[in-house]
Amino acid sequence: DGLIWLDGEMVPWREAKTHVLTHTLHYGLGCFEGVRAYSTEKGAAIFRMKEHTDRLFRSAHILNMTMPFSKDELNAAQCAAVRENNLDEAYLRPMVFLGSEGMGLRADNLKVHVMVAAWSWPSYMSPEAKELGIKVRTSSYTRHHVNITMCKAKANGNYINSMLALNEAIASGCEEALLLDNEGYVAEGSGENIFIMRDGILHTPELTSCLEGITRQTILDFARELNIPVKERRITRDEVYVADEAFFTGTAAEVLPIRELDGRVIGAGKRGPLTEKLQGMYFDAVKGKSAA
Ligand code: PLP
Repeated sequence: DGLIWLDGEMVPWREAKTHVLTHTLHYGLGCFEGVRAYSTEKGAAIFRMKEHTDRLFRSAHILNMTMPFSKDELNAAQCAAVRENNLDEAYLRPMVFLGSEGMGLRADNLKVHVMVAAWSWPSYMSPEAKELGIKVRTSSYTRHHVNITMCKAKANGNYINSMLALNEAIASGCEEALLLDNEGYVAEGSGENIFIMRDGILHTPELTSCLEGITRQTILDFARELNIPVKERRITRDEVYVADEAFFTGTAAEVLPIRELDGRVIGAGKRGPLTEKLQGMYFDAVKGKSAA
């Protein structure tokens, strides 16, 4: 039930369908966003909507897809998807994909479709995971877009390795995967950026092999506010093993402590004090309780 915004119109959930010859289904050229709306004193509010819309347009630009709507229209579509489904808290999925008018790799004559769905998806991880932290496994799959532009795009095709990595992690009794880049440095989680805290300095991989996360940027802003020194640089996997604290960030995962990587306990083996502080600041910000 509910409504999905599709190419400029609100259509009933069941009718928001696409053909089996949809080009993006075959070749994967498409991009999307993951956005959240939180319940605030002023009603549902979409956190960092402008930043997500900007990134969606950058992703489409990188993929050479011409957006048939303006950013204002996309923002209005996201607000409408939350409002018209009477959602208080929501996960939103804007997506840009190619139509079914033709096959073959030459896709410049195909229609670019845009949709925004919104539904209730309260938590990606359990409350215990948010408090106690999760177990993570370094993946045998790599983030393969080092040195190519694709890590700047939240592109459909980039998620094959993420999914294989997550399956592998779950199969070995962990909750998330950590992907390395092609040179063996830490890149990111299957759908999250990573931070480590060591000797009072916060470290996060530079933007060569990870997505330019919007939550990552929010955390960097908080760290500056707290006068915590930050280094954006390449991190090795053993630096994560010996970190005082480690956590993932992402729209879905929010701020998620990591208590173990590859069977090595990180720090005290539970959510560290800075992770807890940043998590608190994040939840205040999304709920409109702080200026951030
Ligand atoms: N890295 C990847 C591969 C992602 O899919 C996501 C999720 O959107 C992130 C990082 C975190 O980005 P954000 O904080 O903008 O949600």
